[in-house]
Amino acid sequence: MLYTSTRDNSVRITAAQAIARGISEEGGLFVPCEIPRFSLDKIISMADMSYIDRAKTVLREFLTDFSEEELDYCVKGAYKADKFSSPAIAPTVHIDGGKNILELWHGPTCAFKDMALQLLPYLMTVSAGKTADGKTIVILVATSGDTGKAALEGFKDVDKTKILVFYPVDGVSPMQKLQMTTQEGENVAVCAINGNFDDAQSAVKSIFTNAEIKARLAEKNMAFSSANSINWGRLVPQIVYYFSAYCDMITMGNIGEGEEINVVVPTGNFGNILAAYYAKQMGLPLKKLVCASNSNNILTDFLNTGVYDKNRSFYTTSSPSMDILISSNLERLLYHMGGGDDKLVGNLMKALSESGRYEISSDLLAEIRKTFDAGFAAENEVDETIKYHFDNYGYLCDTHTAVALKVYDEYVKRTGDNIPTVIDSTASPYKFSKSVLTAVNGEIAGELDEFDMAQELNKVTNAPIPAPIASLKQKKIRFKNVCDKENMSEMVFSLLKL
Ligand SMILES: *Cc1c(COP(=O)(O)O)cnc(C)c1O
Repeated sequence: MLYTSTRDNSVRITAAQAIARGISEEGGLFVPCEIPRFSLDKIISMADMSYIDRAKTVLREFLTDFSEEELDYCVKGAYKADKFSSPAIAPTVHIDGGKNILELWHGPTCAFKDMALQLLPYLMTVSAGKTADGKTIVILVATSGDTGKAALEGFKDVDKTKILVFYPVDGVSPMQKLQMTTQEGENVAVCAINGNFDDAQSAVKSIFTNAEIKARLAEKNMAFSSANSINWGRLVPQIVYYFSAYCDMITMGNIGEGEEINVVVPTGNFGNILAAYYAKQMGLPLKKLVCASNSNNILTDFLNTGVYDKNRSFYTTSSPSMDILISSNLERLLYHMGGGDDKLVGNLMKALSESGRYEISSDLLAEIRKTFDAGFAAENEVDETIKYHFDNYGYLCDTHTAVALKVYDEYVKRTGDNIPTVIDSTASPYKFSKSVLTAVNGEIAGELDEFDMAQELNKVTNAPIPAPIASLKQKKIRFKNVCDKENMSEMVFSLLKL
């Protein structure tokens, strides 16, 4: 299995190279040259497997340059039972009212990013061993909250790696900040920057491409890499849980073997829903993939009109991990659906960076709409949805999941398409205690601190507080660094002790 670039079809590299490099030189994203296909028998045979064996079955097809021993080492390390609060790793829960919810937040940081970021460090170190001459990999992350913590937890004390995370000083939730500043591990560092997320992101990108800095790292036998969802190593682990959920639906007796289901995904960078698309292309009987957005509904507009236009207001919502106007992984979908046309993708992305807008042909839009549907939920609808599902079904969900639940209900009303459906749940409600408590109580949660708020939520709902959140209170704050965005490269040197 070889990989090419969405902006240059002449590229041919292995999976290990794609994972070690992260992004192609000309700015394109790495994609598999062909997508493997599973027979229905093969899919059904996965129903009897553990999550680890399901993962190996899927990953084996994409990581053909990994040996069976390497694959086994990676997957068993990532999905250890003691790191996940559910033995199923990613359980599918059937709630009253007939909905099936795929809970992707049982990992160590209580967000779905763990599903990929627990595995990525293993894939990265094995890949580096094949391609990077024993160099130490330095992962640089700019985060608005969830990715930073999940990446820290994933790379903590992983041999031959270091990880540095930068977050905007006032741009993350108090719980997210605590999760990062108390991070344990010998190879980790965290720093706040005076600026917003875009400042952090731009500074990180300019450090990545700064030849002088790269040379200074190379002298110490180090090289940068990236842990965000443009990296193929973050996308490929996500394909697994769609197969896993389908198998669980069969085992629970919710569907017959081979029966089609729909999938609803709360979407930001388009990574999670793209993984569902790959699963469908591999032969998993998925019918519609429904893209759910919050008030930042640029994807809803795109999937309805074919016009992608980021010249619009940006809203700060109660589902911050979906507050995004450039969904990077859409580029991969355009490449596959456009028949592998690298020139087309290059031109669209050029238009996006120059004018903030592009438009696809009506034929391509029609093709995409055969598989994708889209909708969005406004802020008041998110609150109502949390309350409705808790009051009526006793199911407590977070704000991101609520977006998906609302969009799903609207989808069924609009289309009448009520076949069995899996709805992705991407964060523990306790990660967003204030918003969830406010929604459940119908009044603003007062001046309580984060832990009181979690306690209060627990009292009202009886849903258990996840251990990683409860244990934060006892942890010591390790990282108090703050720097200006102009001084970030100096901070990188100082944190790396160069
Ligand atoms: C990152 C994230 C999302 C968005 O996922 P994408 O793959 O970027 O579309 C949704 N919900 C939560 C809680 C997240 O952390």
